Amino acid sequence: MPRSKIEWTDYTINPIKGKCPVACSYCYARKMYDRFKWNPEIRFDGNALVDFPIKPSRIFVGSTMELFGDWIKPAWMEQIMALPHNFPQHTFIFLTKQPQNLIKFSPFPDNCWVGVTATNNQAYREAIVALAHIEAKIKFISFEPLLENIKIAALNSFINWVIIGACTGQPKELMELQKQYPDLEPMRYGKKLTLQPQLEWVREIVEAADKAGIPVFLKDNLLPLLGGYPIPKMITTKDLTQYMIGIKPANTKDLRLMPNALANIHESYVLLCIPKSQMKKWEQDVDSH
Ligand code: SF4
Repeated sequence: MPRSKIEWTDYTINPIKGKCPVACSYCYARKMYDRFKWNPEIRFDGNALVDFPIKPSRIFVGSTMELFGDWIKPAWMEQIMALPHNFPQHTFIFLTKQPQNLIKFSPFPDNCWVGVTATNNQAYREAIVALAHIEAKIKFISFEPLLENIKIAALNSFINWVIIGACTGQPKELMELQKQYPDLEPMRYGKKLTLQPQLEWVREIVEAADKAGIPVFLKDNLLPLLGGYPIPKMITTKDLTQYMIGIKPANTKDLRLMPNALANIHESYVLLCIPKSQMKKWEQDVDSH
């Protein structure tokens, strides 16, 4: 089973192969199908459901295909939804842009995390409605890529986790997307181009989450927005100095944002991102504070 590069999961499996019909312009998976001339036909691939790790792990199901679309055969979903029952030691993470179909699989087993991607206001409203109507132990919203200022008066208490991230992809597609969302800012992240949301948009979501006590996971790809690559101590960015603390987890077992922990050692809230590799050193710094 392939280890995942996605920061919030250990493994990724893709039991449905083919070119995803949702056709998001920034989709890396669709680009790979084009580039390597892979078979675009949508089909079930049982080979993806072998070699499960022994150690309890987080497994993201369907990183290259929307699993809750009407193009997925019920028999395929039956096999996929059997996984949480067959492997109770693992946590299975599902993330969808078709939230209206989640209800068909509710209640989800306790070892499932069920999320909806909300890149804009319309998707956010649909996410809230859908998540309100399903039963899952962990429900989350992924604001990645965050494409516009999402009007969040308050985050509902039934949301357990929030992810925020920037838009990454091929430069040509990103520049096309920016025409549609002119408030996004093109910024380099290493060698890659990203489209960054406004700081204010990120701040509003984190504040709403913080008020509701909901953990936030800030993706590394937001780092250009936060004033450069962080070092393992507090980063005070120009605009966010007086605001909040966002801490990346020490390890993937702990995805909590810990504002209170840091509030004890720093009066003002600071939005903070630390690469996983430097987290140990940072923790030592905090301990000796
Ligand atoms: S829903 Fe996901 S997999 Fe499908 S096109 Fe969009 S980004 Fe790609």
